[in-house]
Amino acid sequence: MKAEPSAQQTLLDLQAKDSVIAQLNHRRVSLPENARIGELDAEVATLDGRRIEASTRVSDLEREQKQADQDVELVKTRRARNEERLNSGAVTNPKDLEGLQHEIVALDRRIGTLEDAELEVMEALEEAQGQLDEVVKALEELRVQHDEVAARRDTALGEIDAELSDAEAGRGALAARVPDDLLALYEKLRANQGGVGAALLRAKRCEGCRLELNGADLRELSQAPDDEVLRCPECSRILVRTSESGL
Ligand SMILES: [Zn+2]
Repeated sequence: MKAEPSAQQTLLDLQAKDSVIAQLNHRRVSLPENARIGELDAEVATLDGRRIEASTRVSDLEREQKQADQDVELVKTRRARNEERLNSGAVTNPKDLEGLQHEIVALDRRIGTLEDAELEVMEALEEAQGQLDEVVKALEELRVQHDEVAARRDTALGEIDAELSDAEAGRGALAARVPDDLLALYEKLRANQGGVGAALLRAKRCEGCRLELNGADLRELSQAPDDEVLRCPECSRILVRTSESGL
């Protein structure tokens, strides 16, 4: 393949630009903020699971407390009714009076037991509510952290994207100055050779594969006309000659 030496030089500039673009794309996907956001998402999911558990426990206990309260009220109402009957003077039969008094004592004991149970439920509810509050607070803190990291990531992405858009505009201008056949060869090599399709021959060494060329290869290359597109005998990348090549 033939190409003007100036077009071959431009290929090196294009390669440099493509390497910058590749680095920017790599930076884009490997921002440390992305990994951190992934961790925070996982922590939020775990904590949200705990929040749902704690919230369910609070609702259950609230229902239990309401029930316990109703139980106490029910017995208290019955006790009040008995007390009223006792004080009304309507019951005069001593046996009935005694029965009534016994029932009041029994109801008092029952009220005591029910109130103890209610108190236990209230204590458990208070503890569960405390746990729920803690989880909710921790979740809020995590979400604040998440938003901060996301904002940092967005800023970094904005900067990278601005650089990328500059680099891509520059690349377009350079690619327009390279003949189609040379550009096609370069693109094919670049795709197959880890992003480097063209390299400078500097001091007898291919900067693509970093290998020093042997004497026979160098002699052959030095005899090629200036407009001949050379390939590295080691890595087959396009090899561009300059005054630094050592030919
Ligand atoms: Zn090479």
